[in-house]
Amino acid sequence: MATTSQNIYLTKREKLSCKTCGTRIPLGKAFVAESEKHKGTCFTCSPFVGYIMLSPGNAAMTRRSKKHSTLCGVVLFWNQRRKRYERKGQLVEEIAIEKARLECESDKESRALKNKKAAVIRAVQDKAYIIVFAEAIRQRYPNCPANRENEIAAHACEKYSGRVGRTANAKQFDGKMIDLAVEAHIRHTETNYDDQFGKGKRKREIRTDVKLDINRILKQWRHQ
Ligand SMILES: [Zn+2]
Repeated sequence: MATTSQNIYLTKREKLSCKTCGTRIPLGKAFVAESEKHKGTCFTCSPFVGYIMLSPGNAAMTRRSKKHSTLCGVVLFWNQRRKRYERKGQLVEEIAIEKARLECESDKESRALKNKKAAVIRAVQDKAYIIVFAEAIRQRYPNCPANRENEIAAHACEKYSGRVGRTANAKQFDGKMIDLAVEAHIRHTETNYDDQFGKGKRKREIRTDVKLDINRILKQWRHQ
């Protein structure tokens, strides 16, 4: 059964009192109620006496400790700057925190294993991506010197690594994408582009300077 959540306000109001014992609840002290407009109790009259505060920030701990606790008190404090109540943490039973900690501990290994498996899959995908991309480059630039297509594809793979949904599908490599990758490669390996920096020329100027060379080589690589 789902654990019941109960709001606990570190109140910003000055005229609250406990519906059970009648004590006035001072500013900043815990008021246990549905909202500050509802009737509620002081902390001592609430069922949370003896409960432990769990700070937010660990989603698995928050979820699991709540699940194992009889009640869960959501402690809220007033953020003056944002003009709203925010979570300070939750009050749960000590045993619930212990159980949650154990669960997270045993989870840790399987989670690490999962990450490891994902990394292996990614490496395989990268390899496939490079092969397919290299083939596409070779097709479009049949005169490209030996092995350059692999170099270009590997570089592109590195550049776009981490892109969501990247799979080795030849259809994803359009002409424009191939041209840009090949062009960048030529700029850095076949022209004096990189040597021209730091000599008072602007990047745009340097690019224009090497543009003719690049186009000439692109043409050579492309046509039989
Ligand atoms: Zn009370």
